[in-house]
Order: sequence, then structure tokens, then C-alpha cells
Amino acid sequence: FSKIKEGLSKTRDAFLGKVESIITFGRKIDEEFYEELEEALIMADVGVNTVMEIMDELRVEVKKRKLSQAEELRPVLQEKLADLMGSEEQEGLRMAPNDQLTVILFVGVNGVGKTTTIGKLAHKFKSEGKKVILAAGDTFRAGAIEQLEVWGQRAGVDVIKQSAGSDPAAVIYDGLAAARARKADVLLCDTAGRLQNKSNLMDELNKVYRVIKRELPDAPHEVLLVLDATTGQNALQQAKLFGATAGVTGIVLSKLDGTAKGGIVIAIRKELEIPVKFVGLGEKIDDLQPFVPQEFVAALFS
Ligand code: GDP
Repeated sequence: FSKIKEGLSKTRDAFLGKVESIITFGRKIDEEFYEELEEALIMADVGVNTVMEIMDELRVEVKKRKLSQAEELRPVLQEKLADLMGSEEQEGLRMAPNDQLTVILFVGVNGVGKTTTIGKLAHKFKSEGKKVILAAGDTFRAGAIEQLEVWGQRAGVDVIKQSAGSDPAAVIYDGLAAARARKADVLLCDTAGRLQNKSNLMDELNKVYRVIKRELPDAPHEVLLVLDATTGQNALQQAKLFGATAGVTGIVLSKLDGTAKGGIVIAIRKELEIPVKFVGLGEKIDDLQPFVPQEFVAALFS
């Protein structure tokens, strides 16, 4: 909990600081108060639609509970955000049954933190005693293969690669073959993230997906979309784009430590049907945390 609290400090300071400057002792709940609160939520990138919904519900609660003082609203706001995040526990990764090979495909736009996330997750699996292999499926971006190799070394896991410019589906195919031959537990597949030509990229991702499916019908077990929290609402747009075409099953929200826009988690949660599975809270190998919705809200208010 202290890790998520620390990672969220920028969002918390901005959000809670603002909320606390609005919810002051002795202040009455009136239209001006509602407007200021609404603005604070929008600034934290909670998303306009979601904010409208929260504000409507707050008004209902104020009437129902006959509240008149601003400070009485603080616990109600926390409660509403907690409700929004859902009551379920953290959603873990779907793993292959009976110690079979688990294949995880990573997708996302260049620069969002995909390679870093793969490195962190490789380290996490390895420290759980699992044998991990990485497949360098981003054959397009200059330096992507080398960068994955650096993370492979850091995490102490093998990287399967071909030369730059080669067919990503062929690299993933090799990765699968190596993972099976070496009896690996987990194969983490990197993919390209260029957005200049969306249909081209989506075709490429589809081909990779089909190759995995053909070789292992139960796989990929997860398609994780990495989003950069610092881009706020832009991340939501990327989620909509990839979610619609790439069969995304979970989200990793990176760089939550570097932003005051952490409210984007709430918007993602509310506007997409895709669960956030991990959050990135720094650049180091162990700066990846499972995302627990209720913990997130508690950290925001503590
Ligand atoms: P990719 O192009 O999607 O593979 O992105 P990279 O993994 O190369 O990451 C881009 C930059 O973001 C690098 O400088 C990383 O160190 C940084 N980064 C990635 N994840 C995080 C995170 O959770 N927090 C912070 N502060 N930086 C991160």
C-alpha cells in the first residue's frame, strides 16, 4: 500500500489538495461549491462523462442525507469513487492451466513504456520461480530489439530475436518454438507501436495474434495494452483504438508516478470494459504493482 501511495503522490497532492481547498470547514454546499468540485475532478482527468455522473450522484446523496456542510461531503465523495471502481479484488493475469506455457502479448503506442513493462513483468515472474522468455516482436522501431535485450539481461531471461525489419510474426513464431523447446512457463511478446499507419499496424498485430492462436489455440492468455498515464485523456483514446481492434484483455497503466492525472484510472475503469491489471510506478525493475481498485481510492484520500 505504501508503494501505491507513494506512486500516486502527484495525483494525490493535486487532487486532494484541490478537494481540500474546496471542502473547507464551515462552507455551505451550494452551486458554486458544486462547480468548483466538478472542476477539480475534471482537472484530475477523471473524464467529463464520469465527472457528470459523480456530480449527479453527489447531489442525490446530499438531498437524501440532508447534508448542508461541505465537509460532510468528503466521505461521500470517497464512497462514490470507491463504488465507481467496483468492489472486486484485483484481477490477476489469466495463466495457462497445468503448468503449460502462458503467452502474453503486449501492445501499445511507442514510448508508453511497453519494453519497460515487459522487463518488470519478466522480473516478477522470474522471482516467482518461473522460466521466462521474451520475444522481440517490435522489429520496426530503431533500437527496440536492443532495448528489450537490455531488459532481458537485467531480469536474467532469454530474448528471442531476428534482425531489424524482419517479420514480427516470424519472431513470435520462433519465440513460441523456443519457449516450448526450453520448457518455459511464460512467453512475453513485444510488438511494434508505430501509429503513423494504423491499419498497417493493426494488420501486423492481427497476424501475430493468428500465428500464436494457430500454434497454441488457448493462447494468447492475455493481450495487455500499455498506456501512459501522463497522457491523460489521450490514453483513453488509445485504449478505444486498440480495444476495438487488438482484442485487448487488460491494461497496464505506466508512469502513474509521474503525473497528477491519475484520475485517468477512474475514467478507464468507467468508460471501458477492460480491467487495469498493473500500474507502473517508476523506471526500476520492481516498480510494477498489481492494481487493486479499492487500494487506489484509499491511497487517493489518505
Ligand atoms: P516503449 O517505447 O513503449 O517500449 O517505452 P519504454 O519502455 O522505452 O519507456 C519509455 C520511457 O518511459 C523510458 O524512459 C522509461 O524509463 C519510462 N517509463 C516506463 N515506465 C515508467 C513508469 O512506470 N514510471 C516512470 N516514471 N517512467 C517509466
